[in-house]
Amino acid sequence: MNNNGNNKNDNKGHPEKRTERKRNVKGNGDMHPADHSSLRLRAEALLEKQKGQLDELYTQDLEKIVHELGTYQIELELQNEDLKTTQADLNESRRKYVDLYDHAPVGYCTIAPTGVILSANLTVARMLGRARHDLLRTPFPLLVAENDRDAFFMHLRKTVRENTRQSAELEMLTNDGGGIHVLLESNPVTDSAGKVVEIRTAATDITEKKLKELEIINLNRELLRSNEDLLHFAFIVSHDLQEPLRTVSSFIQLLERKYGHLLDDKGNLYMRHIVGGTEHMRHLLADLLIFSRVGSGKLARESVSLQRVLENVRKNLAETIRENDAEIVTETLPVVSGDESLVTDLLQNLISNSLKYRNGDPPKIRISSFSEDGHWIISVQDNGIGIDMQYADQIFLIFQRLHQRNEFEGTGIGLAICKRIVERHGGRIWVESEPGNGATFFFALPKAGADSYAW
Ligand code: ADP
Repeated sequence: MNNNGNNKNDNKGHPEKRTERKRNVKGNGDMHPADHSSLRLRAEALLEKQKGQLDELYTQDLEKIVHELGTYQIELELQNEDLKTTQADLNESRRKYVDLYDHAPVGYCTIAPTGVILSANLTVARMLGRARHDLLRTPFPLLVAENDRDAFFMHLRKTVRENTRQSAELEMLTNDGGGIHVLLESNPVTDSAGKVVEIRTAATDITEKKLKELEIINLNRELLRSNEDLLHFAFIVSHDLQEPLRTVSSFIQLLERKYGHLLDDKGNLYMRHIVGGTEHMRHLLADLLIFSRVGSGKLARESVSLQRVLENVRKNLAETIRENDAEIVTETLPVVSGDESLVTDLLQNLISNSLKYRNGDPPKIRISSFSEDGHWIISVQDNGIGIDMQYADQIFLIFQRLHQRNEFEGTGIGLAICKRIVERHGGRIWVESEPGNGATFFFALPKAGADSYAW
């Protein structure tokens, strides 16, 4: 290219040379006519000679130019080859990108802030059973089930207004008149001024998950209903059986009082078994009644001071505490949200067990609390006989006992009641123990408002 320019300069030189030549000739115009013809001859000869030089000069320049042009052409051809390869690469990656976009496992579409679909991949078209071109320029809300349209508008508005990624679960209409549940995840796209100009939305088909959820909800409802039926049944049975049991008990007492002296040792032993049996049945029915009551009925939601609850439990169990020479140590306990009478039953059951399942030493019971994720965890730790952890779940089931009645009295309902109370409050209960080394029962109850203590 530069040489080319030089050539131009070279060419520029020629007219100057020609002007020079003219000046020389003009300058000689004032000479004597006799000299004129010889001069002219000389001049013509000179000109002829210079003409030859000029031609030679032009030829050299042209060769240079042709060479330059040839090189330039090759350069261009090479560049052209490069461009062709780049174009082919671009086409290939575009094809790959379009392929990935169209056949992605989730549906993709671009929506204008007005809700009109600007582009859609084949997956979203397939999900809705429609042709892609039918989706383009269609308002997205027309594809959303009527009940969910407001939810979609809110989703769209929020994406545009907050200019952040938003998600929503909706039902969309398919071409065959059916519906699918989708999870929409929308990302705003902004222009250089930061204004949202498009929304890129990914739609995942979650119909199966939704159906499963629905199934679980229905099963849960059914379970709740049958649970209620069962509790009602337990209530009726325990309540109604108490009456005939009372009759049996009182007639046995009469029998013993009036005719006991006629019985021999064996007869008296049988009598004691009958009395013991009816007594146990009375306890069973009473506990069953409590169990059915804690499972149903309205749950009060009040601020319950565990400190106050513990004082009441201490009073209720005062005699047993004294008889066992037991000690209950505690730190300041928090306030929970719940039903005070049920929370009292809960703590009383656990402390009663700690008093009952004692070993040779006087029972020492420590009650503590700590905070965890909006809940208070309360622990009731004792120094009693402990529990083999393989039964850690079993002991919370109704009528499950680890001991014979001649070892420890009981009905096997106490911990089932505790579990029901805690679960109705949205909490959980568990035990940590080692046989011979005491047991620690933990339960979680929701906090009452902000963290607070009652004194
Ligand atoms: P019950 O005390 O009437 O048997 P529970 O439901 O209260 O019924 O307890 C179930 C079983 O769990 C008990 O039979 C006992 O074996 C075990 N258990 C409960 N509390 C304790 C404890 N503090 N220490 C050792 N074992 C316990």
